[in-house]
Amino acid sequence: MSERSLLSPSNPPRPADISGSVRHDWTVAEVGALFALPFADLMFHAQRIHRAHFDPCEIQLSTLLSIKTGGCPEDCAYCPQSAKYATGVKAEKLMALDTVLAEARAAKDGGASRFCMGAAWREPKARDMEKVCAMIEGVKALGLETCVTLGMLTASQTARLKAAGLDYYNHNLDTSPEFYGDIITTRTYQERLDTLEHVRQAGIAVCCGGIVGMGEGRNDRAGMIVALANLPKHPESVPINLLVRVAGTPLADEADLDPFEFIRTIAVSRIVMPESMVRLSAGREDMSEAIQALCFLAGANSIFCGPRLLTTPNPARDRDMALLEKLGFTPMA
Ligand code: SF4
Repeated sequence: MSERSLLSPSNPPRPADISGSVRHDWTVAEVGALFALPFADLMFHAQRIHRAHFDPCEIQLSTLLSIKTGGCPEDCAYCPQSAKYATGVKAEKLMALDTVLAEARAAKDGGASRFCMGAAWREPKARDMEKVCAMIEGVKALGLETCVTLGMLTASQTARLKAAGLDYYNHNLDTSPEFYGDIITTRTYQERLDTLEHVRQAGIAVCCGGIVGMGEGRNDRAGMIVALANLPKHPESVPINLLVRVAGTPLADEADLDPFEFIRTIAVSRIVMPESMVRLSAGREDMSEAIQALCFLAGANSIFCGPRLLTTPNPARDRDMALLEKLGFTPMA
C-alpha cells in the first residue's frame, strides 16, 4: 500500500507540539509533524518527556496467557486465531482454573507484576464470564494485577468484571479509522470505542493500542495515535505491536516495516501520551537487542515476558533479563 499523504489543504503543516502536555485534541497533521522530526530531536524529546513521568531505567513486566485459544469468528487479518484462516492453530476450550492459577504463580515467581489473560472470542457468553471472573479473583489473591481481553463487552459485563476485581481490560483499536476496514470487517471501529467506553464507565483501567507494519502508511500510524490520545482519557497502557507475520493469514507476506519507523511510532506515542505505560509488545522475538534498547530510549517502559504471546513466539525470560541487566534496567515493582 502506498504511503498516504500527511499533508493536504485541509491538513496544513503545523509545528510539532513537543510540550509533553496531556491533550485530547490532537490532529493527524500535528502527530505527523512529530513523526517527521529529525531522529535525534524526536528521541531527545521522547526521552525528556519520559523522564518527567517515569524512572527511565525501570521496565514493567507483564505475562500474557491464552486462556482460550483459536476458533475465533472474527476476521482480523493479522490473527492466527481467526477460524477464517488455515494457520494450524487448533481451537481449544477455556482453560481450567487450576491451570491458569499455576501459570500465574509461575509468572509472579518470574518477576511479573501483571498477569494478562486473553480469550479468542467475539464476545464472552454468560457461562464464560463466571469462569473468567473466578480466574480474576484467583489471580488477584496471588497479589498480581489482573488484565483480561475477551472481545466486545456490554456495560453489565464490565460491571461484573469490575466486581471480580479486574484492574485492566485490553481492547485495541488496532490501526487508524481509515485503514481499519482493510484489516477487520466483522466488527466496526465504533463497536471498539463502545466497549472502551463501557470499560471506563465501570472504573476499569484501559489497555489499548495497536499494530504497525500491516501495510498502513505513516498517516495511518499517526491516525492510530490520534485515535488513542483523543479518547476521553488516555489509556493507562498503550501496547504498540509490530506485526508478526503468520503463514495462512492475509498478512503473511507483508513487507518489513523499517525499524526506525517502528521506533518513531514508540517515540511519538510517548510524547502524545506522556503519562501512559507504552508497551513494546508483539514482534520482539525478531527484534535485535539494539532496536529494543532504542525503543526503551524512545519511551517504551513495559514488555510482555515469557516464551509465547498468545500463539506467537516471544523472547524467553532469561533473554529479557539478560538484556535488562546489560542496559542497567530493573523490573518495575
Ligand atoms: S485478534 Fe482477537 S478478535 Fe481478532 S481474530 Fe484474533 S482472537 Fe479474534
